[in-house]
Amino acid sequence: MKTLKDKIAVVTGGNSGIGYATAKILKEQGASVIITGRRTEAINAAAHELGVSGIVADQGKLSAIENLVRTIKEDFGAVDILFINAGIYLGSDIEHVTEELFDGIMDVNFKGAYFTLSRFIPILNDGASVIFLSSNTASMNGATTSAYASSKAALNSTMKIAAVELAPRKIRVNAVSPGPIETDLLKKQGLNDEQLQEIKEWIIDRVPLHHMGSAIDIGKMVAHLSSSESSFVTGSEFIMDGGMSL
Ligand code: NAP
Repeated sequence: MKTLKDKIAVVTGGNSGIGYATAKILKEQGASVIITGRRTEAINAAAHELGVSGIVADQGKLSAIENLVRTIKEDFGAVDILFINAGIYLGSDIEHVTEELFDGIMDVNFKGAYFTLSRFIPILNDGASVIFLSSNTASMNGATTSAYASSKAALNSTMKIAAVELAPRKIRVNAVSPGPIETDLLKKQGLNDEQLQEIKEWIIDRVPLHHMGSAIDIGKMVAHLSSSESSFVTGSEFIMDGGMSL
């Protein structure tokens, strides 16, 4: 059913993984979709495969976010669905963390996501839906995840305050917090296939449902939160982790 007919949707970080799968589902449900990413070739290829619009934008840079908003306003007018998904993972224990690692994570996962919401607000239609991609790590306490988990915990806090601030315009703001999802997130850290397999086995042992999630699982939840079927839902975090954080 085309529940998102005539909606304009923006998916940041839409050239791979969760963003890519979600863009596909939003399009199938009738939305006109714009994806963003850092790498020109990847964004062009994904936009072509999906039959959506692609714009190169570094979501960690305020000037790039403001350019993105200007371009979308000129070309599409206003936005109904904003999926703030772009993010990276880097791990380090607190003692040995570098400023570069800390800033790298915070610039994209928190500052970038925060200013993406901030600068899009003027071009959101009343009744729009904003969804942040957070993580179950925000409510867990895994060693070496402090910077990443804190970036997502900060997002969850912003999400709730934004839900309050934007409620008078009937704009809903929610977060989806996945557990382990099969994407290229860890591969992009430079891990080889053997290391990835070891991590996967370690993770699956800790997930009560005993498997990794798929990007499509997350995309379906984002589509639900984008539609009128969730019209009374705002300020909520949806943990989707097969029970891992229980
Ligand atoms: P992914 O396949 O690596 O996708 C990440 C996307 O974000 C890519 O399209 C990437 O584009 C984009 N991106 C990263 N930095 C960017 C920047 N500065 N500007 C613009 N785009 C940027 O990984 P994923 O697993 O789908 O991750 C999506 C989100 O889910 C992230 O926020 C991540 O923290 C979160 N998450 C993932 C998991 C998991 O297990 N996979 C679990 C919980 C939460 P480029 O490739 O062009 O950089």
